[in-house]
Amino acid sequence: MTIVDDAAYWQRCAAGEFALQRCASCRTWRYPPSPLCPNCLGREFAWELPSGRGTVWSWIRMHQRYFPADAFDLPYEVAFVELDEGPFMIAGFAAGTAAPPPIGTRVAVVFQSNKRGDQQLPVFRSIEVNQ
Ligand SMILES: [Zn+2]
Repeated sequence: MTIVDDAAYWQRCAAGEFALQRCASCRTWRYPPSPLCPNCLGREFAWELPSGRGTVWSWIRMHQRYFPADAFDLPYEVAFVELDEGPFMIAGFAAGTAAPPPIGTRVAVVFQSNKRGDQQLPVFRSIEVNQ
Protein backbone atom coordinates (compact mmCIF):
# COMPACT_ATOMS: atom_id res chain seq x y z
CA MET A 1 0.00 0.00 0.00
CA THR A 2 1.30 3.42 -0.88
CA ILE A 3 1.01 5.98 1.86
CA VAL A 4 0.09 9.43 0.64
CA ASP A 5 2.72 11.91 1.69
CA ASP A 6 0.98 15.26 1.83
CA ALA A 7 3.94 17.02 3.50
CA ALA A 8 4.80 18.69 0.21
CA TYR A 9 1.29 20.16 0.04
CA TRP A 10 1.51 21.57 3.60
CA GLN A 11 5.04 22.89 3.08
CA ARG A 12 3.73 24.91 0.14
CA CYS A 13 0.80 26.14 2.24
CA ALA A 14 3.27 27.27 4.94
CA ALA A 15 4.94 29.38 2.27
CA GLY A 16 1.60 30.87 1.21
CA GLU A 17 1.53 28.91 -2.03
CA PHE A 18 -1.59 27.03 -3.08
CA ALA A 19 -0.31 24.18 -5.24
CA LEU A 20 -2.01 20.98 -6.32
CA GLN A 21 -0.76 17.81 -7.90
CA ARG A 22 -1.32 17.61 -11.66
CA CYS A 23 -1.06 14.36 -13.57
CA ALA A 24 1.92 14.19 -15.91
CA SER A 25 0.01 11.93 -18.32
CA CYS A 26 -3.52 13.33 -18.68
CA ARG A 27 -3.06 16.73 -16.91
CA THR A 28 -5.92 16.12 -14.45
CA TRP A 29 -5.64 18.13 -11.22
CA ARG A 30 -5.66 16.11 -7.98
CA TYR A 31 -7.04 17.02 -4.60
CA PRO A 32 -6.50 15.82 -1.92
CA PRO A 33 -2.89 14.72 -2.50
CA SER A 34 -2.95 11.21 -3.87
CA PRO A 35 -0.49 8.59 -5.13
CA LEU A 36 -2.65 7.91 -8.21
CA CYS A 37 -4.43 10.07 -10.76
CA PRO A 38 -8.22 9.67 -10.29
CA ASN A 39 -8.66 9.84 -14.07
CA CYS A 40 -5.96 7.58 -15.57
CA LEU A 41 -4.37 6.00 -12.45
CA GLY A 42 -1.00 7.42 -13.48
CA ARG A 43 1.55 7.86 -10.70
CA GLU A 44 3.65 10.68 -12.14
CA PHE A 45 2.72 14.25 -11.29
CA ALA A 46 4.04 17.76 -10.79
CA TRP A 47 3.04 20.41 -8.25
CA GLU A 48 1.41 23.21 -10.21
CA LEU A 49 -0.41 26.42 -9.33
CA PRO A 50 -4.16 26.36 -9.99
CA SER A 51 -6.20 29.58 -10.10
CA GLY A 52 -7.19 29.13 -6.45
CA ARG A 53 -10.73 30.02 -7.41
CA GLY A 54 -13.90 28.02 -7.21
CA THR A 55 -17.64 27.98 -6.54
CA VAL A 56 -19.39 27.17 -3.26
CA TRP A 57 -21.20 23.89 -3.83
CA SER A 58 -22.35 23.39 -0.23
CA TRP A 59 -21.39 24.12 3.36
CA ILE A 60 -22.11 22.84 6.88
CA ARG A 61 -22.04 24.47 10.32
CA MET A 62 -19.84 22.87 13.00
CA HIS A 63 -21.08 23.23 16.60
CA GLN A 64 -18.45 21.00 18.22
CA ARG A 65 -14.64 21.13 18.15
CA TYR A 66 -13.13 17.90 16.88
CA PHE A 67 -9.51 18.99 16.55
CA PRO A 68 -7.77 21.15 19.17
CA ALA A 69 -5.76 22.97 16.51
CA ASP A 70 -8.83 24.14 14.65
CA ALA A 71 -8.40 27.68 13.43
CA PHE A 72 -11.99 28.66 14.03
CA ASP A 73 -14.20 29.70 16.93
CA LEU A 74 -17.42 27.73 17.40
CA PRO A 75 -19.72 27.60 15.63
CA TYR A 76 -18.02 27.80 12.25
CA GLU A 77 -18.84 26.81 8.71
CA VAL A 78 -16.95 24.41 6.48
CA ALA A 79 -17.23 24.89 2.74
CA PHE A 80 -17.43 22.30 0.00
CA VAL A 81 -16.09 24.10 -3.05
CA GLU A 82 -15.71 22.98 -6.65
CA LEU A 83 -12.38 24.40 -7.79
CA ASP A 84 -12.28 25.85 -11.30
CA GLU A 85 -9.76 23.14 -12.20
CA GLY A 86 -12.23 20.37 -11.29
CA PRO A 87 -11.48 18.87 -7.87
CA PHE A 88 -13.73 19.49 -4.90
CA MET A 89 -12.08 20.89 -1.79
CA ILE A 90 -13.24 21.09 1.83
CA ALA A 91 -12.00 24.06 3.88
CA GLY A 92 -13.22 26.75 6.23
CA PHE A 93 -14.21 30.28 5.36
CA ALA A 94 -11.78 33.12 6.00
CA ALA A 95 -11.95 34.95 9.33
CA GLY A 96 -14.30 37.87 9.11
CA THR A 97 -16.77 36.09 6.88
CA ALA A 98 -19.98 37.36 8.48
CA ALA A 99 -22.18 34.56 7.20
CA PRO A 100 -21.61 31.63 4.90
CA PRO A 101 -22.00 32.79 1.33
CA PRO A 102 -24.88 31.37 -0.69
CA ILE A 103 -24.43 28.29 -2.83
CA GLY A 104 -22.93 29.37 -6.13
CA THR A 105 -20.81 32.17 -4.65
CA ARG A 106 -17.40 32.59 -6.26
CA VAL A 107 -14.55 32.19 -3.78
CA ALA A 108 -10.76 32.20 -3.75
CA VAL A 109 -8.21 30.48 -1.52
CA VAL A 110 -6.40 32.62 1.02
CA PHE A 111 -4.26 31.43 3.92
CA GLN A 112 -5.04 31.74 7.62
CA SER A 113 -3.03 30.61 10.63
CA ASN A 114 -4.39 27.88 12.91
CA LYS A 115 -4.93 28.58 16.63
CA ARG A 116 -1.41 27.46 17.58
CA GLY A 117 0.10 29.66 14.92
CA ASP A 118 2.16 26.80 13.54
CA GLN A 119 0.30 26.02 10.33
CA GLN A 120 -1.15 27.99 7.45
CA LEU A 121 -4.54 26.66 6.40
CA PRO A 122 -6.12 27.29 3.03
CA VAL A 123 -9.55 28.88 3.55
CA PHE A 124 -12.07 30.46 1.19
CA ARG A 125 -12.91 34.13 0.84
CA SER A 126 -15.78 35.41 -1.26
CA ILE A 127 -14.76 37.22 -4.43
CA GLU A 128 -18.30 38.29 -5.31
CA VAL A 129 -18.50 41.99 -6.10
CA ASN A 130 -22.10 42.38 -4.96
CA GLN A 131 -23.12 40.38 -1.89
ZN1 LIG B 1 -3.99 11.18 -15.24
